[in-house]
Amino acid sequence: MSVPLLPLWIAGKDVASTSGRTGDVFDPSTGRVIRRAPLGGKEDVNRAVAAAAAALPGWRDTPPLRRARVLGRFREVLEANREEIAKLITEEHGKTLLDAAGSLQRGIEVVEFATGAPHLLKGEQAEDVARGVDSHSVLQPVGVCAGITPFNFPAMVPMWMFPMAIACGNTFVLKPSEKVPSTALRLARLFQEAGLPDGVLNVVPGDGETVEALLAHPDVAAVSFVGSTPIARRVYETATRNGKRVQALGGAKNHAVVLPDAALDFTADALIGAAYGSAGERCMAISAVVAVGEVADALVSRLREKAVALKVGPGRMAGAEMGPLVTAAHRERVRGLIAAGAAEGARLVLDGRDLRVPGEEGGFFLGPTLLDRVTPEMTVYREEIFGPVLVVLRARTFEEAIAIVNRNPYGNGTALFTASGLAAQRFEHEIQVGMVGINVAIPVPMAFFSFGGWKQSLFGDLHVHGPEGVRFYTRTKTITSRWPATDEKTKVTLAMPTQG
Ligand code: NAD
Repeated sequence: MSVPLLPLWIAGKDVASTSGRTGDVFDPSTGRVIRRAPLGGKEDVNRAVAAAAAALPGWRDTPPLRRARVLGRFREVLEANREEIAKLITEEHGKTLLDAAGSLQRGIEVVEFATGAPHLLKGEQAEDVARGVDSHSVLQPVGVCAGITPFNFPAMVPMWMFPMAIACGNTFVLKPSEKVPSTALRLARLFQEAGLPDGVLNVVPGDGETVEALLAHPDVAAVSFVGSTPIARRVYETATRNGKRVQALGGAKNHAVVLPDAALDFTADALIGAAYGSAGERCMAISAVVAVGEVADALVSRLREKAVALKVGPGRMAGAEMGPLVTAAHRERVRGLIAAGAAEGARLVLDGRDLRVPGEEGGFFLGPTLLDRVTPEMTVYREEIFGPVLVVLRARTFEEAIAIVNRNPYGNGTALFTASGLAAQRFEHEIQVGMVGINVAIPVPMAFFSFGGWKQSLFGDLHVHGPEGVRFYTRTKTITSRWPATDEKTKVTLAMPTQG
């Protein structure tokens, strides 16, 4: 059966790719190919960057308030098309409609934050930095920015980037994941409907080759990347070598530490949502629980009870709580990791490998899986699984639990479950992780804070959206001015100027 080939979106129009390369886009709940995505080549990237560069002077010189009004209209258009976008996310990613709508909402909130651009772009001012001398700073756009995004959040992750960049006066080329290209193309068209001038946002679906072309392009000034750690590191190294500003967010292994005084049912419910929501394909999914002291047995039995009850099915199905994995290959990888866990001595409390969803035998489903008595040496702990697999490690003390989290090479998110303010304060202070939840399993910061991890979960200095997003997409220029009277007495001095 022939399936439609998607276009690129360049200068406000659908255009055909010239690369000659395409990739299959699946509906993961049926396992069928529903579209083909162009895999953008060098020429496609050149056209998109040229369109962004041509649109830059006009957009950069549009007053921030006018730019913000376009973002305000974009928010309204997104809200009016919420259901259709959520369906598109579910169709290509597989997550449930409710989850898709929630992730879209998080993206819309970034657009909402970006409508505050006139305030966010104000610089600083100081009078009399020396006698008769004033200083002020302005935040100016960096130029053409590129965004490279993963498959797991087809709307939210691109919307961490382009609304912020565009509100700050930049133009943008987005390269969405080749597995879920349709949502990004739809968002770009909706932004045009909201009044965005052509060329300010361009979309080139593609793969590694497309990314290489973007990173090598001399007119790309800044690169935002979100994806796995090995690729984030490569993107960071290549793009910085090419003189670009880079923020590259990588993979994760997020731990929840559970103390014996935690409210057990509340904790188990929160962990089930955080481990199995979106089939574990979230960079903030909790994938490891560190149970401290005597809480372990009771917690594991509660987790099992609740995980068994989860309804797995196509994301579009009413009542489905967990959808399939994104591809057959990814499901095979996750199955292999579960097998390795069992072989290396973990206790397989719940095994989702043989789950069948009646009527959807072709879908890439895998049931919730729970492994207990996992140790830090095991493959199932060392690797990022990115599937519905929760592993439980046991620690004797709180100190031991903190040490386990801090020894892990990733540092994206973590959570502590406790009734003790003292323990929470200590955790907040000592833990080497960028985003921390206290009795909150998925501590994804709101749009007006910034999102980002530490260690191998982020290469670069600045997090996305919020105040750090504004800093990433702007350059600071500081102006020092003096207005001498025409008859001011003056003399030559070769000494370094001081405040006088
Ligand atoms: P991925 O690293 O495979 O792909 C990410 C992007 O890089 C895609 O656009 C892809 O086309 C591109 N790419 C693929 N191969 C490339 C190559 N060789 N060179 C350059 N670019 C290449 O990631 P994924 O499988 O799409 O997404 C899952 C990963 O993303 C997980 O590791 C997850 O933790 C991570 N993630 C992190 C965050 C975060 O905020 N830290 C958020 C979401 C996802």
